Amino acid sequence: FNNKRASVRIRESIMRSRQWLLILLTPLLVGVIAYSQLGVLYGLAAIAAIYLLACIYLISRWSEAKDTGTAYKRYLDQLLFGLESSPQSILFTTAEGNIAYANGNFCELIGLGGNDLTGKNLRDYRDIGVPDTLFDDVGETIAKGEEWHGELFFEKAPPSGKHTLTTCRPIFNEDNEFVFVLTLIDDISDEKVFTQRLYMNAHYDAVTGLPNRSHSIEKLEQATLAAKSRESFFSLVYINLDRFKLLNDSLGHNEGDQVLNQIAGRLRNTVHSNDLVSNLGGDKFMVLLQNQRDEDAVRSVVAIRKAIAEPVDVSGQELSLSASIGLTTFPDDAKNAPDLLRNAESAMYHAREQGGDGFYRYRHEVDNRAASRLAMESHLRYAIDRDELHLAYQPVISLEQNELVGAEALLRWRNRELDNPTPDMFIPIAEETGLILPIGDWVLEQACLQAVEWRRLNPNFVMAVNICAKQFEKGHILNAVEHALSVSGLPPHCLELEVTERLLMGNDSLTKNLLYRLKDMNVRLALDDFGTGYASLSYLKQYPFDLLKIDRSFIADCQESEQSRQLVLAIVSMAHSLGMKVIGEGVERLEQRRLLKDVECDMAQGYLFTPAITADRFTSWADQYQQLQIN
Ligand code: C2E
Ligand code: MG
Ligand code: MG
Repeated sequence: FNNKRASVRIRESIMRSRQWLLILLTPLLVGVIAYSQLGVLYGLAAIAAIYLLACIYLISRWSEAKDTGTAYKRYLDQLLFGLESSPQSILFTTAEGNIAYANGNFCELIGLGGNDLTGKNLRDYRDIGVPDTLFDDVGETIAKGEEWHGELFFEKAPPSGKHTLTTCRPIFNEDNEFVFVLTLIDDISDEKVFTQRLYMNAHYDAVTGLPNRSHSIEKLEQATLAAKSRESFFSLVYINLDRFKLLNDSLGHNEGDQVLNQIAGRLRNTVHSNDLVSNLGGDKFMVLLQNQRDEDAVRSVVAIRKAIAEPVDVSGQELSLSASIGLTTFPDDAKNAPDLLRNAESAMYHAREQGGDGFYRYRHEVDNRAASRLAMESHLRYAIDRDELHLAYQPVISLEQNELVGAEALLRWRNRELDNPTPDMFIPIAEETGLILPIGDWVLEQACLQAVEWRRLNPNFVMAVNICAKQFEKGHILNAVEHALSVSGLPPHCLELEVTERLLMGNDSLTKNLLYRLKDMNVRLALDDFGTGYASLSYLKQYPFDLLKIDRSFIADCQESEQSRQLVLAIVSMAHSLGMKVIGEGVERLEQRRLLKDVECDMAQGYLFTPAITADRFTSWADQYQQLQIN
């Protein structure tokens, strides 16, 4: 190619020297002819005239050329300006890799911004900023005369490398010889970040950074296929933090997120790097233990429980957490990923039903429980509409006067298909599903209406209604109580709300505030099942409880155990000193009643008087009881 160029240049210079010869010789020839025909004077005049004309011609040609040169230079400048301002990186090299032109963007891309690379060879920058692919892969394609198109990463591009879409096009001369390579490079780093972010959002949990539910299920499916083909096994651990919702609502969602994040980090640090830790949504985590089963898997679960139990630091506050954990193994417990996950979940629920803070190894019968749980949930949705719910009432008796002073409303569910589930079976499900909200509203209203009726016969009558933690969420209880009181017309001091110690866990200001607001409404507050939780009596000082109900397990033990007797005595006297009245629950025998009376317990309820009965039967029971007292 270069030889051709040279020959063209030689030809042009020959042409140019011929022109000069013509310009020099023509006046001389015309002068000689004029001199020989017309004499010296004419000869010289002719020569001078022709030279003058030649000069004029040359000057005009020169200025024309000068103009063309200036225009050409301007044209080149504009072209260069255009190339330099292009958002693309542009590189123009010879077939041998000599750089004929590289714009500023290209220099920046290989980390040599501000340099002029013209005349250098691209290979000199191979290890410095130009990706290897551009020589190997691309070189091969280009050599075949084909265009190359693909993604390249320029690691030296500031600030931390750039992803590009690069096109390399071979350029041929008139003789179809491959002479140049034009490389055009688009920066796609932003798009790359965006698509990466989209991928992250779709596959990872925003709070913990762990794979999310759908991604975990994909990975679980891959794991089952891999285990099948390798004839290996793995275990699946399903973790649900206990009472996290309560913690989240009381501490705030930011703090809740911090807790989840810390737990996620601990789980990752507890298991092997090739085990999968993921988030199944909120406070549910999944851990896939590769090549582990039986004792190995149990050992890992023990380590996981230990890691969760370490105090969590949230905004300077130390919290202790626990979890309900389900464990299942592939292929021992299930043949595919969805079944395996379901098994792990039902094992987790089993652990949770046992009070949480524990783990359960999946067994087939747990699966049946999960199925019955699911059936219960779907039936419960229509229980109110189908008129399947009703209230039973258990009388509360004052021990001093032996008088009926009130009743506790206890929910009953008549559902033959499910064999009439007891509250202990369906209330937790209603709470988890949120169905307790409409059901709880209904209970409050019914109980208040019934209380108004019984107060006509007994003006001191107080109706107690059980309320669970879920009903306190978002202050729901305030509206529910207000509504029930206004619909029924029951004076607030005749309604007693029973809550358990579980509600007080976390010691959050929201719950406390709600309890005080209920107290301001003049509603009575009772702490149910006292003694089964962790609350100490002094701890209760900060809450506005009017009444304390000693759990029936203490009453049951009273006769046999001196310790229980002492405890009951201590509870009653301390409660009195804090201005609370006391009810003994589950009184089944006369001796228990006597004992409670001896320790000055205020009231009692239990099978000794009657189990919870329907409203109609309660009315006649109350009548009979009163007759009995009179006689
Ligand atoms: P609880 O509030 O502690 O209710 C007392 C439970 O003890 C009742 O069981 C009652 O039937 C039973 N009981 C009463 N006297 C005796 C006795 O002498 N011996 C024995 N062994 N048991 C006795 P039930 O009705 O099955 O209720 C269980 C729990 O379900 C209740 O415990 C309460 O926490 C919950 N519950 C019941 N109704 C409702 C409701 O309407 N709303 C809410 N949130 N929870 C409810
Ligand atoms: Mg109760
Ligand atoms: Mg109770």
